Amino acid sequence: MKVSGSEPFPVDILAIAAHRDDVEQTCGGTLLRMAARGLRTAILDLTRGEAGTRGTAENRAREADEAARLLGVGWRHALDLPDGAIENTFENRLKIVRVLRQLRPRVVILPYGQARHPDHAIVAPLGYEACFLSGLAKIEPQTKPHRPFKIVYASLYADVRPSFIVDITNFIDQRHLSLMAYRSQYANQAAGSALFVPEEEIRERAFAEARHYGLLAGVKYGEPFVQKEVGLVDDLTLIPVQSL
Ligand SMILES: [Zn+2]
Repeated sequence: MKVSGSEPFPVDILAIAAHRDDVEQTCGGTLLRMAARGLRTAILDLTRGEAGTRGTAENRAREADEAARLLGVGWRHALDLPDGAIENTFENRLKIVRVLRQLRPRVVILPYGQARHPDHAIVAPLGYEACFLSGLAKIEPQTKPHRPFKIVYASLYADVRPSFIVDITNFIDQRHLSLMAYRSQYANQAAGSALFVPEEEIRERAFAEARHYGLLAGVKYGEPFVQKEVGLVDDLTLIPVQSL
């Protein structure tokens, strides 16, 4: 796996999230499934976790590398936006533009714009606007413009009906391993025990959420996504739907 570096590293799918360990919860199964299909995947975390109750940013960096290895992604990097205080500024959009032009993803996964944590909510418009700016030749003209073909929103924690589900049944155990790579956050321990749920409960919750979304699409475990655009159909017999 490649961590950081600024040389070109073309990928098919880039997941952008506020914090190390977000992607593992909301779309890790999808990244695993896409990697198994032979697609090149990458993760951009916008912060480094310095405001977390448990662990340090250095711990989290090591854990994030391990989680990326378990998710089969080819590239992972964390920007230096302030943890707990992410803002949708031009400067922050530009930091993301540089990564978009380096990786040139066809699809970008963003968090859904309605969320309990303000960092999660702001990444939706911040990421969307960065994807738009990245297509403009006069922004950072020393690098070649690139606009992703598609943005989808990982909506696991949002109270919204998903546009589609990705079947992650064969990948949920591996996804859970990637989340538990963040030992400083999720292993049972005294620090923050009044705030954090026990390890066993984390597993049960994660599997229950995935089961809920899987049921919506007639599979065992699923991850939900929202797409904002209306779909265009050529052949009604080729629309992917579950059998009734
Ligand atoms: Zn988060």
